[in-house]
Amino acid sequence: MRALVVFTALLMGAVGHKLFLGDQVLRIRASDERQLAKFRELEDLENLQIDFWREPAKPSLPVDIRVPFRSLQAVKIFLESNNIAYTIMIEDVQALVDQEQEEMKTAQTYEQSTKNFDFGSYHTLNEIYAWMDLLVATHPSLITKSLLGHSFEGRPLYVLRFSRDGSAKRPAIWLDMGIHSREWITHATGVWTANKIAEDNTKDQSLNTILDKLDIFVLLVTNPDGYVYTHTTNRMWRKTRSVRSGTTCVGADPNRNWNAGWGGTGASSNPCSETYHGVAPQSEPEIKAIADFITNHGNVKAMLTIHSYSQMLLFPYGYKSDHCVDHSELNNLAKVAADSLAELHGTKYTYGTTLDTIYRADGTTTDWAYDVGIKYSYTFELRDTGKYGFLLPANQILPTAHETWRALMKMMEHTRDNS
Ligand SMILES: [Zn+2]
Repeated sequence: MRALVVFTALLMGAVGHKLFLGDQVLRIRASDERQLAKFRELEDLENLQIDFWREPAKPSLPVDIRVPFRSLQAVKIFLESNNIAYTIMIEDVQALVDQEQEEMKTAQTYEQSTKNFDFGSYHTLNEIYAWMDLLVATHPSLITKSLLGHSFEGRPLYVLRFSRDGSAKRPAIWLDMGIHSREWITHATGVWTANKIAEDNTKDQSLNTILDKLDIFVLLVTNPDGYVYTHTTNRMWRKTRSVRSGTTCVGADPNRNWNAGWGGTGASSNPCSETYHGVAPQSEPEIKAIADFITNHGNVKAMLTIHSYSQMLLFPYGYKSDHCVDHSELNNLAKVAADSLAELHGTKYTYGTTLDTIYRADGTTTDWAYDVGIKYSYTFELRDTGKYGFLLPANQILPTAHETWRALMKMMEHTRDNS
């Protein structure tokens, strides 16, 4: 009887949750452009339901794909028959998802019994929003919470403003996390970072002088609909949750939706693609709300947008191969930031323009920011390089946040000293 109850409970828990039983993440290393082109044929076979964790870019970069269990044999045969080398990065995706769930439950129990917030664990949207209110209440003279707008499904988009002079549109630094909802390490790093700014704002001399001159905005959950969906239904959801006529596929890639080189070959016009650019520039309400806010503010000097994974610092451009006029300054600053980050735990980052470092990407945050006059515009791709990918274990949250902070500080200090 007891076994039956447990079994029923397990089944109930599974209802509504997409399962990844036996799914594997494969890493493909194409030896040349010809093999890469061959591999791209897999992208068009929608019935295989392959989920690209790292898109095919160039032979020097690996491609990571999550392959559903039922497609594994077909994909492996395809790769082997074309002599394309691959390794298995994750044996069983569901095992990692289950472990993550267990750890979240343990942390929730701890938090409820001790009334402490555990920065080393992952949290739901409601938990993050509740924590934000607590942070504002604890630091009322420094932090305010503003409503930027609403997501497609009507969820509020809240941004935290750290400011010593709440009245004026002071020069500002913008940070956002979680534009791609499955990149959970970004939200977790953001929460730690917001707390760090609050706790150290006068203690850390450098941060103190940054805040004397600049406001800092932190948008912890840029894509709340997607984030909720990763908790309730599909852990691997990347896009927004907008619906449109003419297709049953949901969502657009919010980082292909900005009005900067929108709609070119560095994005997809297929609504079912993970890099679908949306029906029009800034068609996604989340992106429109941010763009409107930043444009109206008019004095944002740095825009740092946080993604995962692959350990990179990227700057404009992604939609064209021309180097921007500030290229050498941006490249030098990326080097300084990456070097400082690596000093803590030895985590190595590569850096450069989006197009040079990975591939052409149109309609991205960093290109939009740069084109509207925000010089210090960077994309972070946090840990790791693919061992766990989007399922980075919670015990890496604090080391990731600590090392990322060093790079953020280098960029904020440079912004303070040069604007
Ligand atoms: Zn991303």
